[in-house]
Parts: sequence; C-alpha cells; structure tokens
Amino acid sequence: MSDRQPQAVATTIGTASAPEPLVAIRALTKYYVRGDQLIPVLVDINLDVYEGDYIALMGPSGSGKSTLLNLVAGIDKPSSGEIRVAGIDIAELSDTELASWRSANVGFIFQFYNLMPVLTAFDNVELPLLLTQLTRRERRERVETALTLVGLADRKDHYPNELSGGQQQRVAIARALISDPTLIVADEPTGDLDRVTGGEILGLLERLNIELDKTIIMVTHDPKAASYADRIVYLKDGRIVHEMSEETDGLDKRSTRTIRAVMSELTD
Ligand code: ADP
Ligand code: MG
Repeated sequence: MSDRQPQAVATTIGTASAPEPLVAIRALTKYYVRGDQLIPVLVDINLDVYEGDYIALMGPSGSGKSTLLNLVAGIDKPSSGEIRVAGIDIAELSDTELASWRSANVGFIFQFYNLMPVLTAFDNVELPLLLTQLTRRERRERVETALTLVGLADRKDHYPNELSGGQQQRVAIARALISDPTLIVADEPTGDLDRVTGGEILGLLERLNIELDKTIIMVTHDPKAASYADRIVYLKDGRIVHEMSEETDGLDKRSTRTIRAVMSELTD
C-alpha cells in the first residue's frame, strides 16, 4: 500500500485484515502453592481465539489443558497475565462479576455431563435461564428450541438416569446453548462415550460452530475429536509447544494422521 493513502483508509484496511480476537490471552501464568513450593501449571501462555473458531486443546495428561480452559471460561483465576474476552479482562473481575459474566457469556460441556439428577431434561436445560428476566413462557420456548436442536424434544420429561450417555451429553449441550453464549467450552466431551456416540456429539458441536457460528474451545486427547476442529493447540508441561490450523498447515479435517504424529512426539 502507498504511504500516501489517507490514514482513514489504511486504518479500515488494517482492521478488516486483522479482526480483534474474541479471546486474547497474554503472558498468562497459573501456579499452585504447596507448602513453600510454587508448582507452575501454566507458563507464559499467549493465545488468540477468533469469533467462529473451533479450537482443540491437546497435550499429555497433566499438561494444563483443563486449567487453561477453566481460566478462559472464568471458572478459575490466573496467577498473572491477561485474559481479554470481547474486550473485558476477566482476570480483573471480582468473583461476583465473574459469575454473572460467565452465565451470560460461556456455555460449558463436561466429560461426565454434570446434569442435576433430580431434574428432568427440560428442567436441567431451563436452569441457567432462571437467573434471567425471561418469562416462564419465553423460557419454555427457548428450552423446547434447544432440545429440538439436539434431537431430544421427545425426551424432555426424562431424568438423566433414564437417558443414555450420549443423550445426557445432548441435554448438556442444550443447556450450554440456552443463554446463547459467545463461547462454548468443552472438556473431553466425548471422553465417556463410545466411538459412534462420540461421533454424533462431535457432529452436533460442529453444527453449533458452523450453523450457529459458536466459538468453541474443546479439550481432548482424542485425535478423532481434534480432527473436527479448525485449529489445534498443543500443550506440554504448561506451555504451548505447537499449533496447527487448517489455513496455515493444511490441517486436513477428519484426517488424524498428522494429529497423531504430533501427539506421539509430545508424549515421548
Ligand atoms: P490436563 O487437563 O492437561 O490433564 P490439568 O489442567 O488438570 O491437566 O492439570 C495440570 C497440572 O496442574 C497437573 O499437574 C495437576 O496436578 C495440577 N493441578 C490442577 N489443579 C490443581 C490444584 N487445585 N492444586 C494443585 N495442583 C493442581
Ligand atoms: Mg483435563
């Protein structure tokens, strides 16, 4: 670009080619104190996540994946560094502010579903909405839409123990979506499921990403699951040691060969 271009044009072009990340993590550290020892869990993490990204966090057991996910989701607080989500540094929020930020902005999916056993599928999905101003009728419409989306409209009156693992995870996905969060975080969402059921859940997450444009960060150690993401971030000993993406590394969707190769290098 010529340097005689008007400033405004240059700025506009600059913005268009480099959109603001939805999540910007800078110099993030997390350590635990045990006795007089500091145990580092995450060391100097820098990561940008853009709106509409689908990121898989991989790495050996104990490498800090869940800790990083929980920090981004505002479940946990960093020891130092910044986590900006949509412009807010969530590391600076008080516990109360963080709780309300979380309920408006983040949907959670866990390995073991974390449904309330005494509530029906409908009531589990409705739960996050009880904190909002929505009327009972608006809540019901939203819950029915979410349960239909995950293919469980006909199971709304079932309790978790009357549902299969895959169905329980679908309920959990409906619950994660119900507040229309910007960000969906999932920690080993297929870790407790057989391959076929896991594949269905991955297909559903992919639809949330593509059709509803949800930004997803998923922890997994399963190369098959990671192959659904468009970017893979590898952690080892609390550091980001490798990144791959569809755009820059020609990461081949549904192909697990490269993913497996990097994984086995890291676990050596
Ligand atoms: P991953 O999800 O990759 O398996 P985690 O993020 O769960 O790893 O844990 C990373 C490291 O942090 C592990 O060594 C774990 O023992 C340690 N850790 C996690 N939570 C705590 C805690 N509350 N107190 C002390 N150490 C912890
Ligand atoms: Mg973990």
